[in-house]
Amino acid sequence: MVDPDCLFCKIVKGEVPAEIVREGERTVAFRDINPQAPTHVLVIPREHHADAATAAAADTGLLDALVREAHEVARAEGVVDSGYRLVFNTGTGAGQTVFHLHGHVLGGRGLNWPPG
Ligand code: 5GP
Repeated sequence: MVDPDCLFCKIVKGEVPAEIVREGERTVAFRDINPQAPTHVLVIPREHHADAATAAAADTGLLDALVREAHEVARAEGVVDSGYRLVFNTGTGAGQTVFHLHGHVLGGRGLNWPPG
């Protein structure tokens, strides 16, 4: 399913430009426009799902594919050994601003815990 008004669906379709780093059968990975770390890549499903929970409920294999792809992104970016964070902001109160599921792959600097 595609939402014609969704920004990330438009990136999947090529209607909005993005710096794409990997494309898979089910996922697209592109650099965040406002990077919070030297590596900051968003991994999204081609299909529209508002967040991780709705995607998991609708399609049990999709999150597996997305997490595998996030790890491939981290490997390609050279941040596996130093460690990376995979974040799914879920809900406005947690900072979610785009309601098309996306995993943030963050790495290349020290990452504090707890996150802000
Ligand atoms: P959220 O806040 O929903 O977890 O993450 C949304 C992310 O999308 C933010 O980090 C924001 O910088 C990024 N973003 C918003 N609009 C665009 C865009 O048009 N292109 C790209 N590449 N990233 C975007």
